[in-house]
Amino acid sequence: MAKAGPDRDQIARKLGYDRAADLVLHLPLRYEDETRLTPVDAAPHGQPVQVEATVVEQEVRRHPRRQLIVTFRDSHPDMPEDTPPIRFQSRWLHFYPSQLTQLAPGVRVRLFGELRPGLFGSEMVHPRYRVVKPETPLADELTPVYPTVAGISQAAIRKAVQAALAEGPLEETLPEWLLADLGLPPFKQAVLQLHRPPPDGPRAQHDTTQAWRRLKFDELLAQQLSLRQYRSARQQVQGRALLDHEGLTDRLLKGLPFRLTAAQDRAWTEIRRDLAGDHPMHRLLQGDVGSGKTCVAALAALTAVGSGHQAAVMAPTEILAEQLYLKFTEWLTPLDIPVVWLAAALKPKARQSALEALASGQARVGIGTHALFQEEVRFQSLALAVVDEQHRFGVEQRLALRDKANTDLTGHAPHLLMMSATPIPRSLAMSYYADLDVSVIDELPPGRTPILTRVIGQGRRMEVINRLRDLCLAGAQAYWVCPLVEESEKLNLKAALDTQAELAQALPDLEVGLIHGRMKGDEKAQVMGRFKAGDIHLLVATTVIEVGVDVPNAGLMVIEHAERMGLAQLHQLRGRVGRGARESACILLYAAPLSDTARRRLAIIRDHHDGFAIARADLDMRGPGEFMGARQSGQAMLRFADLEADLDLLEAARSRADRLLRGDPARVVAHLARWLPRGLRLSQV
Ligand code: ADP
Ligand code: MG
Repeated sequence: MAKAGPDRDQIARKLGYDRAADLVLHLPLRYEDETRLTPVDAAPHGQPVQVEATVVEQEVRRHPRRQLIVTFRDSHPDMPEDTPPIRFQSRWLHFYPSQLTQLAPGVRVRLFGELRPGLFGSEMVHPRYRVVKPETPLADELTPVYPTVAGISQAAIRKAVQAALAEGPLEETLPEWLLADLGLPPFKQAVLQLHRPPPDGPRAQHDTTQAWRRLKFDELLAQQLSLRQYRSARQQVQGRALLDHEGLTDRLLKGLPFRLTAAQDRAWTEIRRDLAGDHPMHRLLQGDVGSGKTCVAALAALTAVGSGHQAAVMAPTEILAEQLYLKFTEWLTPLDIPVVWLAAALKPKARQSALEALASGQARVGIGTHALFQEEVRFQSLALAVVDEQHRFGVEQRLALRDKANTDLTGHAPHLLMMSATPIPRSLAMSYYADLDVSVIDELPPGRTPILTRVIGQGRRMEVINRLRDLCLAGAQAYWVCPLVEESEKLNLKAALDTQAELAQALPDLEVGLIHGRMKGDEKAQVMGRFKAGDIHLLVATTVIEVGVDVPNAGLMVIEHAERMGLAQLHQLRGRVGRGARESACILLYAAPLSDTARRRLAIIRDHHDGFAIARADLDMRGPGEFMGARQSGQAMLRFADLEADLDLLEAARSRADRLLRGDPARVVAHLARWLPRGLRLSQV
């Protein structure tokens, strides 16, 4: 006898739920049709079918490996008497001794699987089967196939789900008017249909049947409701009004070698107004690479400091954070504002002193990677958290930051400023980012020269090297970015070393330098210093120069294996040239043959210079999930709905959420209890 299966609570927990009742929303991935029998000679190859058959003989073969082979005769009930027997075989590479007794000659079974042409007629490998009598009734519903994890069988999930359905609650959480408005079926009807569909029922999640639409709408509505609740909760929270009575921001503005662009000024005005308000700001600052977001962030940080509090500035990688640290130090040191650095790589002693400086309030601004928001980091009085390149943080990190932000030593909620060079697609703006205010810097500082971009095959590498020599001998400087070897720092380093050797040999009259991610901070600084001073003509680099490197005399950039890089990354890299008055060029070297997609992607970079336009073209090619990276976007947090495909439902949910919140708070509570039992995990930090 089979052992008693794991209990329902246990199954629910293994599948990632807290309660057995949540299994009601554990919806099938697809269905199998066991309501019909297919004649073997009419079965479409490669599609799952159910057949009824009688065992003719069985054999355990030992070569080429041990396997059970059973020959069947088709016993489809409608088969005319005089039909010659139609035979097929099934193979099991893993089988139990009990199967040998079970599948004795003459036994009638129903098998479910795919029939394929084999050596001896049709063949079904590893079919699911059960022993039947001719009068055993067929299933009258489709058989759901559920998402599962190791160790839980489909049968166990089916049983647990059916029990959850029987127990409920399956109460309606939406009012009549809303269902009528959208023409959606009641909840109970929809879930029952999805778990136990009639033979002509829904087949897959992407089906547009009303039952699926109802569930997707519910999910999107829960997201909208929670975002709104989150937003209004935030508006209840007492924040600190930051007024910079020390006048630090004015002093910074006076000391800068440039004036803010009109767009920077607008963004700064919006941020300053939020910071002066009573509730914590949650604002996203969007602006293309090089649009000058850092200086707006510095103004915000100084507003916190000038009000007697602290600011934290976080970037997703150490190199990015380091660039911020250098900029902030340059701007804040003349104002006598102490800035500390905190990253995972810090030595224990330096780390300890950074932690102490933040906790005592001696340090006014902390800059670092997400190390800045780990458990043991305490701020004396954190009034502002700035997150640069926020879309590159994982959802978990952002949630951790939000929690952290809510627990400084004084228990106040700080203002949050998020920055991104990536425009947010409308569907994401309406969902995950719906609780944020947005400022946009839509112009670049003056004096930038446009960059000529060329796409060139590796076959013309020598030509490129010769051109590079001419330019450098005429006084320009250049970058050579090495191919990216995914997930291997070691290989990246080797590629860079090889390239440096190759170029140094081909260009004996030029000084060829090297910079890469494995170098220590002071080594990197030394190389960059020599490049800035013009002692190095050609700098071979891994993608460490992606961000923040600022050498106006650099006029040429060669990017090897550009076809392997993301568009955002290429755009960031290219942004390292064209920073001075000199005319600049960027050469995208590719290895043939290029796929159609790769060709189109490189053309996007060649033809566009505006990061927003590039992001939009990228989005058109890939859809928002991939565009943001499923992990980053939090897309994975939607289980059923697809932001793009179900945009109409998203809009419907968005436009109805307010009326529901106002008119039917009890239903809102019930709806959220069903869909977000763990509380809000959707909103972005
Ligand atoms: P990003 O928005 O990509 O973070 P940065 O803040 O790094 O851009 O700015 C890019 C460069 O432009 C920096 O060298 C910065 O000092 C400079 N910059 C910023 N604002 C202005 C401005 N209004 N006029 C001239 N240069 C500026
Ligand atoms: Mg930046």
